[in-house]
Amino acid sequence: MSTTDVEPQVQGPLSDALTQLDSLIQHTFMVELPPDLRWDALLLTFTIAVVLFFVRTGHGSRGADGHERRVGLWQFLFPREIYTHVSARVDIWLWLLEQLLRPLWVVSLLATVGPGVETIAISALEQLFGATPALPVTLPWMLFYSLFTLLCYDFVFFCIHYTMHRVPLFWSLHKIHHSAEVLTPLTRYREHFLVGPLWAGGAALAYGFSGGVFGYIFDGNITEATLLNISFFALLFGFNGAFRHYHVQFNYPKWLCQWLQSPAMHHVHHSYLPQHWDKNMAAITSIWDRLFGTLYIPEVDEYTPWGLGPESQAAQRTFLQNTLAPFKEWRQMLHQKRAPSKRQVTPDG
Ligand SMILES: [Zn+2]
Ligand SMILES: [Zn+2]
Repeated sequence: MSTTDVEPQVQGPLSDALTQLDSLIQHTFMVELPPDLRWDALLLTFTIAVVLFFVRTGHGSRGADGHERRVGLWQFLFPREIYTHVSARVDIWLWLLEQLLRPLWVVSLLATVGPGVETIAISALEQLFGATPALPVTLPWMLFYSLFTLLCYDFVFFCIHYTMHRVPLFWSLHKIHHSAEVLTPLTRYREHFLVGPLWAGGAALAYGFSGGVFGYIFDGNITEATLLNISFFALLFGFNGAFRHYHVQFNYPKWLCQWLQSPAMHHVHHSYLPQHWDKNMAAITSIWDRLFGTLYIPEVDEYTPWGLGPESQAAQRTFLQNTLAPFKEWRQMLHQKRAPSKRQVTPDG
C-alpha cells in the first residue's frame, strides 16, 4: 500500500473538533489546554495552605528574601512584602499580555498542529496495523488515555523547558520567568510574549499524538476519564501550576517526589543558587527529570532564594526591561559571536 492512497477513516478528537469552530474553541479552552488561572485550583491551594499553617504552627511561608519565617495566618497566606513587590506587579502586566495573545497561539496551533499530528499518527498506525480495531471504551482505558496524555504532555514540556535552559538563544527568552524575585500564582504565566507559541505548539503536539494513537485504537470514541465532570489532568495541572508558584512550601514525602513534582520542588527551580540551576524541569511528574538526571528533591525549609541573583537582577526588574532583554541579548550575541555566560551570580548567592 502506498502512502498516498491511505486516507485515515478514523477522526481523532482534535480533527473531529475542527469540523466545528465553536466546538474547537470550546475544546481548546475547556478541555485540551492546560487550564488558565482556575478558581477551583486557587481555592484548593489556599485551603491546603491554611491546613499547612496549622500543621506547621505558622512555619513554612517564605518572605521576599526566600527565607522561611514564622508569621500569623494572614501574613502566612498573603505576605505584604511579596504582594507589594515590584516583581508581583510585573507578573500582573505579563499575565495581561499573555491573556491578550494566548487565543492567537492557542487557536492557530491547536487548529493546525494538533489535528495535523493526529492525522499523521492515525495514518501511520493504519498503515502498520490495518484498520482500527475499534475497541469498546471502558473506564480503565479512559484512565489510561488520561495518563498517557499527561505523560506525553509532561515529556514535551520537559523537552521544551530543557532546551530553554540549555540553549542561550532560548534562555534569553525564558529568563523572564526566572527574573521573578517573588512567587505568586500569576508567576506561572510570567513569560516573554515570544514564548507563548512554543508552549502552545508543544501542547498541540502532545495532545495530537495521544489523540491519534487512542483515536485509532477506539475509532475516535475515546474521552478522558473525569471525576465529578472535571478532567483529573486539568485539575492536577491547575493545582500544581498554581501552588508551585505560591510562596508557601508544600513538600511531598520523598518517595512521592520520585514520581510527582511537589510545589516545593519548583521553588528549587526558581532558586539562583548554583546547586539548584536547571533542576526539576517537568510540569507534573518527576519521571523525566529522573531519567535525564535533573531531579532535585529539597530538604524541608531548604533555602531557595528566587530570581536571577544579586549581580544580574537589576537589569531585569521592570516590565519594559524584561520585554526588551532578549532582543538586547541577541544583538549582543550577534556582535560578540558568543553566548553570554548563563547566569552571573556570586558563589554564595
Ligand atoms: Zn525554567
Ligand atoms: Zn516557574
